[in-house]
Amino acid sequence: MATTNSQATDDDAVMSDVKNFIDGQYRESAGARTFDNINPCTGAVIGRVHEASQEDVDAAVQAARAALRGPWGSLSEAQRGEMLHAVAQGIERRFDEFLAAECADTGKPRSMASQIDIPRGAANFRVFADAVKNISTEAFRTATPDGKGAFNVAVRKPKGVIAVISPWNLPLLLMTWKVGPALACGNTVVVKPSEETPTTTSLLGEVMNEVGVPPGVFNVVNGFGPKSAGEFLTEHPGVDAITFTGETRTGEIITQAAAKGLRDVSMECGGKNPALVFADCDMDKAIEGTLRSAFANCGQVCLGTERVFVQRPVFDEFVARLAREAGRFRLGVPEDGSTDMGPLVSHEHQRKVLSYYQLAVEEGAEVILGGGVPEMPAELAGGAWIQPTIWTGLTDDARVVNEEIFGPCCHIRPFDTEDEAVALANATPYGLAAAIWTENVSRALRVAPQVDSGICWVNSWFLRDLRTPFGGTRQSGIGREGGQHSLEFYSELQNICIKI
Ligand code: NAD
Repeated sequence: MATTNSQATDDDAVMSDVKNFIDGQYRESAGARTFDNINPCTGAVIGRVHEASQEDVDAAVQAARAALRGPWGSLSEAQRGEMLHAVAQGIERRFDEFLAAECADTGKPRSMASQIDIPRGAANFRVFADAVKNISTEAFRTATPDGKGAFNVAVRKPKGVIAVISPWNLPLLLMTWKVGPALACGNTVVVKPSEETPTTTSLLGEVMNEVGVPPGVFNVVNGFGPKSAGEFLTEHPGVDAITFTGETRTGEIITQAAAKGLRDVSMECGGKNPALVFADCDMDKAIEGTLRSAFANCGQVCLGTERVFVQRPVFDEFVARLAREAGRFRLGVPEDGSTDMGPLVSHEHQRKVLSYYQLAVEEGAEVILGGGVPEMPAELAGGAWIQPTIWTGLTDDARVVNEEIFGPCCHIRPFDTEDEAVALANATPYGLAAAIWTENVSRALRVAPQVDSGICWVNSWFLRDLRTPFGGTRQSGIGREGGQHSLEFYSELQNICIKI
């Protein structure tokens, strides 16, 4: 790990020392408070994190505001775009460091982080740098009583200082998903990464410095939510807009903070996503897709499937095959090439997921697979391990089939008709993602628009094009990001009306 952000400990093991990044410099906390960074595979302390005080957050917001007026503000879109392409290259140049840091913080398999998390971290800068250049704004020619007319032209301007609050499940990917377009639109940012996974966000500060992004454009404050960096930042009057990814309950709290001063919010929140498996599906594809959607990243994907509805003629076959395949998953450490599934992110999250495993039994589930903590080798016994779990037999009002668990588990329930499947899919307060498995195109086109979700995949899952709208309905979020929708959130449109 890089020197600005790490330290050697007494026993000479390299421990990460994750500082706040303010005005282009790594700083210890003004309040001298730190907290431990824990490896979820072993429970060992792998570093310490400097918790930002109110004073640190204030300094970060002020630095971000000053940078809006400095050299950053005078760059053209094309110049900013070049710089963001250089950031993407900088991430790629230090790919192995980002990969090691992400895997150490999350415990996720290297195979996943190297194919998804880190490449998407770089892509988020390229895609939005290009989007700003290539997506135009409106222009109208307007009639006037004197017959001479007028032109109306809309121009995009930065919103100002953007607070970015990000979660722990895909730390670099989800943080850059917001920082990329925010910077492409000319804003400056103060990022509060999750307390569980702060390292790659902090490391990005080094890349920003290396490629010459002016100080104050990208700032990082570490800490927790309530009465810590998260609350200090979202309550700060110097913040012009807040973009958040995380739990719905946290989103509600942040939306209340944003109401002061009528600051704009973008909310990407939780889900309880359904998969609808019709009898006319390609069963191999449906099994392979559901294995990924329910268990990838140890079930810690907002778009993941926790409710599977299978048409009755293929129900038994589907349950048996999914359980057989999921039962073969190899649990292990990120570095082991044969690992299919890592641990959960923390013991706190493990306690939450296990409480749902317990509740499922109390609510009358038949446990088809898993349901507890696996036996691991002695050196991993302190980790937050959990078994992939499949249930059937719960009633539709069971808490386990209505509340987001965010673990490697799903409940499978049979259905008979298309209408029934749609009603079941829409029966929670969430509306983030859905997957439909059918070889009948007419059915797919009929069913998909009836499902209340921000994204609905047909015969796939997690197939993402960053130009498309992304977000959730109802309790899954407010607004859309992606492509032009990100540009809409991260800029103010000013209409200039020119009388001829
Ligand atoms: P979380 O809500 O606990 O935390 C998210 C971030 O908010 C963290 O940085 C946390 O420190 C901060 N925070 C917490 N309380 C705060 C407060 N009062 N004020 C300001 N900041 C506060 O979420 P999590 O556990 O990190 O992530 C998992 C959740 O994220 C799941 O619900 C998942 O569905 C959701 N998620 C949604 C999407 C999406 O795109 N819709 C993507 C990934 C994850």
